[in-house]
Amino acid sequence: MQALERDLCRLLGAQRVVYEPDALLAWECDGFTVHRSRPRAVVLPDSTAEVQAIVRLLHAADVPFVPRGAGTCLSGGPTAAATTVVIDLSRMRRVLRIAVEDLFAVVQPGVVNLDLTAAVRHLGLHYAPDPSSQSVCTIGGNLAENSGGPHCFKYGMTQDHVLSALVVLPDGELARLGCEAGSRPPHALDLPALFCGSEGTFAIATEITVRLCRDQESVRTLLFAFASMSAACRTVSDVVAAGLVPAALEILDQATIRAVEASVYRAGYPPEAAAVLLVELDGPDFVTAEEAAEVRACGERHAALRIEEAVEPQERARLWKGRKGAFGAMGRLATDLYVLDGVVPRTRLEEALERIAAIGRRHGVVPNNVFHAGDGNLHPNISFDGRCPDQTARTIAAGHEILQLCVDLGGSITGEHGVGSEKLDHIGMMFSPADLDVMARVRAVFDPDGRCNPGKALPSRAGCAEVAKWPQMVARVLGVEDGA
Ligand SMILES: Cc1cc2nc3c(=O)[nH]c(=O)nc-3n(C[C@H](O)[C@H](O)[C@H](O)COP(=O)(O)OP(=O)(O)OC[C@H]3O[C@@H](n4cnc5c(N)ncnc54)[C@H](O)[C@@H]3O)c2cc1C
Repeated sequence: MQALERDLCRLLGAQRVVYEPDALLAWECDGFTVHRSRPRAVVLPDSTAEVQAIVRLLHAADVPFVPRGAGTCLSGGPTAAATTVVIDLSRMRRVLRIAVEDLFAVVQPGVVNLDLTAAVRHLGLHYAPDPSSQSVCTIGGNLAENSGGPHCFKYGMTQDHVLSALVVLPDGELARLGCEAGSRPPHALDLPALFCGSEGTFAIATEITVRLCRDQESVRTLLFAFASMSAACRTVSDVVAAGLVPAALEILDQATIRAVEASVYRAGYPPEAAAVLLVELDGPDFVTAEEAAEVRACGERHAALRIEEAVEPQERARLWKGRKGAFGAMGRLATDLYVLDGVVPRTRLEEALERIAAIGRRHGVVPNNVFHAGDGNLHPNISFDGRCPDQTARTIAAGHEILQLCVDLGGSITGEHGVGSEKLDHIGMMFSPADLDVMARVRAVFDPDGRCNPGKALPSRAGCAEVAKWPQMVARVLGVEDGA
């Protein structure tokens, strides 16, 4: 045991410090299994004071660290290098305060997203951002990734729901970003907004204040099955063009429907359908009833094969079960799943999907699609065997082209999963070296020594065009040196 590990054990007790190589396996990767690395050690603090004490020790020893929530990230964000200590926040899972009248809650970062809604449900309240991983992912991880979810089409991303955060800076100092009461600045720089999406590279959030939303009087979920993906996409365009703002607009393609129906997430989706569209409407009962009729008319215009409408919570949950379990269902298809995350303008969804299929054919892989259609946020999923270097390289190469396509169509390389380590070679598709340099300078304000989640979100040589070179990424995956 080295001096640092001894000091950490003295601070937390041996039970909450992990450094045996075999035991570190559990922290080897996140949901992006292509990048794997065991950290030097993992520590499991219970409080802000303990996080501060840990960070001070690491600062004194000049050791880098990575904050981690549930590890459900899909871009390698919480994966740590062998020299790095993981600060796992999953034990910090207390809801500290619920301000019913003021509609906010103060939580520790390890509170699971769905547990927060469960804690306020009896008050007629909920926490709106709902990633499909919401039964496991943490509010701290959501903050760091600026996570979205099906209901973000109407309610906005995590950034729209965070009022304030208490953070431990990389030298161990505490800083309060934002203010609990009322809305976010204009009274000062909007630092909570800046912190959202910083991917664990600024500081560690140890207390987070989030907005709570009142439950709506009525919620209606409609399921449409279509004979073509084109009909599903056109229905979405018509719904939005009609001036409706559904709470959610989600599409699954045929391969995803079939994977779901063959799994424990079976929801009764028709396997012969080329696409299933879920539309959720919320508001006063008479409004959702009128809007449901309008949405139905859009679906009928595009020859929907089946339309189901559910109002009762249990029936609605059934319709959602397949969508929420889609990634899990695809886990049955192969040992590994590459979940891509790109954005295109909503009007170009159809074209994007056709071209994604062509990219898959060219690389000998099959991208299955389940996506937030309202936001144009695509998730092509490629099942592959990560033990096979050839399959892995073809998967990564197809992914690279898909993200380039999203940018070419006027979109983005990420809608909600972040850059992490996965997209370091892609970020230059969107940003110039000068753009990246601005981001690097903002990051340095929080973390001047670069010890907080190093090597994530921004290329290490920002400004030096370490970008858009997929052959290097494939070489890295295959364990071959750049340029070799
Ligand atoms: C099946 C599945 C479905 C998903 N669906 C969605 C979806 O619909 N929408 C969506 O947006 N994402 C989705 N995700 C991605 C993922 O769940 C989110 O990115 C989530 O916010 C990660 O939370 P986590 O607690 O697992 O964080 P982790 O994966 O542990 O960490 C994520 C990042 O946050 C940083 N971090 C964690 N805690 C803190 C903290 N307290 N302070 C500072 N930095 C911190 C880490 O360093 C890391 O960079 C899905 C993932 C899976 C596996």
